[in-house]
Amino acid sequence: MNPLRSLILAAAGNEALGRAVAALPATRGIVDRFVAGETVADAVTAAARLVDDGLFVTLDYLGENTGQAAQADHTVRTYLALLDRLRGEGLSARVEVSVKLSAVGQLLDEKLALDNAWRICAAAEQLGTTVTLDMEDHRTTDSTLRVLSELRRTWPWVGGVLQAYLKRTESDAAGLAVADSRIRLCKGAYAEPPEVAYADGHEVDLAYVRCANILLGGSGYPMFATHDPRLITILGERARWYGRKPGGYEYQMLYGVRPDEQRRLAAEGETVRVYLPFGEQWYGYLVRRLAERPANLAFFLRALASR
Ligand code: FAD
Repeated sequence: MNPLRSLILAAAGNEALGRAVAALPATRGIVDRFVAGETVADAVTAAARLVDDGLFVTLDYLGENTGQAAQADHTVRTYLALLDRLRGEGLSARVEVSVKLSAVGQLLDEKLALDNAWRICAAAEQLGTTVTLDMEDHRTTDSTLRVLSELRRTWPWVGGVLQAYLKRTESDAAGLAVADSRIRLCKGAYAEPPEVAYADGHEVDLAYVRCANILLGGSGYPMFATHDPRLITILGERARWYGRKPGGYEYQMLYGVRPDEQRRLAAEGETVRVYLPFGEQWYGYLVRRLAERPANLAFFLRALASR
């Protein structure tokens, strides 16, 4: 991994730095580009706007690595309030939620995370929408896949995420390319050791295409989370080769990243879902977005320097 990216990702876990950056007035504008706002109401307003533009949405209440059961419970309650609000606004056909298990207690106890995710899935079922479990660093992969498998026994529509940069992922993809299985494929956003992950970007891209072939060749519903123009072209070709029509798979992109491309694909009839984060704990998320693109970092530093 490139040293600048490793350094920036290390900053994602630095709480003191997070507090300092959050206090800077210049930070607000950058946060607004990538985050819907801090409240449930902000999130629902932003989601409704995207739906009006013909897009689908997955909402994420920001927060991760919770060390307290009470905080995990607060996160669950926020998701329940969000789902309730989505019902009121009639948005459930196009808006689902993404959940990080570490935000609902995974680091404390896997069973607690399962029970908490269960509460969210039960509420989503009432609403007629779906839930996707985000994937975090490789130390949580087995646990997250176990929880996914347990939830899918009751709700086969619960989605999971696979990260192409992990060397294990082709084998995981083969196991998950089954009927009703909703799998988001992304490159992977964490700083991982070379024993478990490809470090070279080209190798990651090749792995992404291999995994995409496995998912497209199976009987599940692949969700391709990438902004990479080259990959998007290849994925369209591979989908056609496997006889998948638009709607038999979907593209996913982050809020604020390549919004024109999101709308272009949707106008062509593709299903495009925007990952829309909200909440007060936006720091770790923002830093991962900056690490993905030096131009974003330059934008951020320029804004800080102009204060
Ligand atoms: P890259 O090679 O990073 O980028 C390709 C091109 O896309 C760049 O050249 C640039 O043109 C554009 N681009 C990419 N990122 C940005 C940006 N931040 N700002 C502006 N332009 C950009 N990772 C996880 O580890 N776990 C998850 O659960 C997870 N969920 C995700 C859900 C969604 C919907 C998306 C889109 C990503 C998710 N990710 C997740 C992040 C993912 O792993 C990558 O870190 C991220 O998507 C960047 O990879 P890329 O495929 O866009 O390719």
